[in-house]
Amino acid sequence: MALLVCLFVAACSKDEAPHVHQERIVAFGTLVDVSIYGADADDVATATEKLHSEFNRRHTLWHAWKGGELYQANLLLREGQPAKVSQETIVMLQKARAISDRSGHLFNPAIGSLVALWGYHADELPTGPPPPAAEIAKLVKKSFTLDDLTFSGNEIIPRRPGITLDVGAFAKGYAVDHAIDLLRAMGINNAIVNAGGDLRAIGSKGDKAWRVGIRHPRQTGLLASLSVHDNESVFTSGDYERFYIHNGKRYHHIIDPRTGYPAPDSTSVTILRADAATADGSSTALMIAGPKDWTRVAKALGLEYVMLVDTELNVHLTPAMAERIKFEVDPKPVTVIETLD
Ligand code: ADP
Ligand code: MG
Repeated sequence: MALLVCLFVAACSKDEAPHVHQERIVAFGTLVDVSIYGADADDVATATEKLHSEFNRRHTLWHAWKGGELYQANLLLREGQPAKVSQETIVMLQKARAISDRSGHLFNPAIGSLVALWGYHADELPTGPPPPAAEIAKLVKKSFTLDDLTFSGNEIIPRRPGITLDVGAFAKGYAVDHAIDLLRAMGINNAIVNAGGDLRAIGSKGDKAWRVGIRHPRQTGLLASLSVHDNESVFTSGDYERFYIHNGKRYHHIIDPRTGYPAPDSTSVTILRADAATADGSSTALMIAGPKDWTRVAKALGLEYVMLVDTELNVHLTPAMAERIKFEVDPKPVTVIETLD
């Protein structure tokens, strides 16, 4: 979620394409840049307004700690009670479950209690110390997954008490997909919806492809850039988004469900694939898989384009991603290209 990335897109658009309309809205807790090529100003204004209200509606609906539908459902699920929700929430959770299953539950939206225990269900960042090891172990032992839920009509039925849902690793991607669907329904076929550096593109910028940047995880500026083609999403998860340092050690917001601790071996993961929801969930899963295990999980998720930056800032790439990426740092980082077969 890099602000720099959207500025980069904005800069490119201004320089190169007079037919690009650039609108910025505040939604989903971040800045969302909507770039639309070749539409008239009235259509752009209507589309931007629609996207703004839809992003905000879904943000509230699925927020982990701010009183929306998912928050209310969590109050019941935690007690082992069924919860009635809207159909769109059921459909969203079913998609999340499919990705969670494919990731071997490294991406696991049922570990809300762990995320909350680490203090990340709050606007303010926690300051440490980390939670007591015994409390972490107690939650890990429960090993909740979305498979502990049954969906029946508009009801979520838990198989046992204690589950808290947290779709923070997925909802933004899912909302970006929805935004693109809305644009297409309005006849807009050349656009990019960039939610704080996580984006999906459709069409092109006239005769040029959209071009986007990927933020450097440890310094200001870009690590790399790439062209995105029709119907491609680029999502990054990183240990720099939400974290605190305690006794010199970084404790970030992406939790390994197997240990209950922040994923220790990755700094950031960028995924390119068609749908934003899968790209979002997959980037979280691969952060946790880390530099030793990411190829296995990438295969299980059907990924082709992956870039993983490890804690030494070495860059692991699939061959397809290596071909697309242009590094924006000098000297270029050490790269390791790993095949997925
Ligand atoms: P970013 O905030 O960098 O886009 P992610 O998309 O990976 O990162 O989302 C991180 C958020 O997902 C956390 O703030 C938390 O709410 C939630 N989360 C943390 N660990 C997991 C996990 N293992 N599976 C699913 N969601 C997680
Ligand atoms: Mg994610």
